Amino acid sequence: MNKKPHILFLFSDTGGGHRSAAKAIIEALNIYHPGQVTTEMLDFFVAYAPPPFDRAHSAYTHIAQVPNLWELGYKLSNGKYRSKLVYDVLWPYVRTAAKDLVNEHPCDLILSVHPIINTPVLRALELGNKPYVIVVTDMVSTHLFWYNNDATLTLVPTEEALQRGIENGMDEDRIEVIGQPISDKFRHPTGPKAQLREAFGWQDDFPVVLMMGGGEGMGPLEDVVRAVDRAQLDLKMVIITGRNVALQRNLEEKPLTTTHEILGFVDSMADLMNAADLIVTKAGPGTISEAFTAGLPIILFTRMPGQEEGNVDYVVDKGAGVWAPTPEKVVDTLRLWIENPEIQAQVAATSKRLARPDAAKNIAHKIISMVKPV
Ligand code: UDP
Repeated sequence: MNKKPHILFLFSDTGGGHRSAAKAIIEALNIYHPGQVTTEMLDFFVAYAPPPFDRAHSAYTHIAQVPNLWELGYKLSNGKYRSKLVYDVLWPYVRTAAKDLVNEHPCDLILSVHPIINTPVLRALELGNKPYVIVVTDMVSTHLFWYNNDATLTLVPTEEALQRGIENGMDEDRIEVIGQPISDKFRHPTGPKAQLREAFGWQDDFPVVLMMGGGEGMGPLEDVVRAVDRAQLDLKMVIITGRNVALQRNLEEKPLTTTHEILGFVDSMADLMNAADLIVTKAGPGTISEAFTAGLPIILFTRMPGQEEGNVDYVVDKGAGVWAPTPEKVVDTLRLWIENPEIQAQVAATSKRLARPDAAKNIAHKIISMVKPV
């Protein structure tokens, strides 16, 4: 019996978005092409990066909380020639690791959902040896690390990300808009809204507001929660602290008077979004794309400098939400939307229109066509 084609997914847990994107594509392969390929997810930082890069996950959560430091590193490396220079300088340190990664993970196609790893692995691979697909998981203000003409195909979430690639030297026939891959569950939740709300125990009539800061629970979420609590609005807060255990503990220690729930890291985001009415969140591309699919009006209270700045403009300019960088602005927007359901409904409809729920499915089709040519 012929061996099934094997797909290697390169990701890392710097934030929650890269893992979610890889999982969404694997899920789509299993749904739409069951049993056709085997898959493997590799956190390349943990498995291969030489010290100190192997600690990228904890470094990310710390550095990302110091916006100026993150912004400096991001902007210094984000130029056409500077981004290449970074890899030229680092190559002697990462060459062995990149070659080990390629040799120890034989596969028929590599799919990367992370900007950092592409140049080293493409350098370590013999060119043309196997397809290398990059799925860009930043929406608009994409870092130039993402773009590399040695990749077989680069798939981007928006027209803006496509233009940025082309302006920076990408061949037009190697880059395509496909959307941000999100789990199929966002458009196929486990039941209709009323049933989901009953299952979550949200029996009262209050609008339900999800409040979160990405997979790591980042940004001044506690200040926002406390401000909304003080405003005594008629709503229920469902606060998702992600992997930020300290944030969860702080919120639980000092009582809140508004109806609320505090959840840590959840695996039921699709059902939660489909059951909720509004979302207050960091401008992460994964969360925003998921909120579009669930048709949620979006209040963005924080963003990572650099790669998430364009996401804010995208949401605001298209009319799917509001940029509210202070707790007061979050409260004012919630009050406006709750007191004016027609405005809320209009923003919700716009959000829904921006959804590209087929992205993961279409990526799965492309992968299959590349490993199983007809
Ligand atoms: N997420 C999750 N459970 C949580 C918190 C977040 O599954 O408790 C998921 C969320 O649905 C999204 C991802 O983590 O898919 C966060 O990605 P995003 O790009 O929004 O931000 P990042 O965490 O990468 O900064």
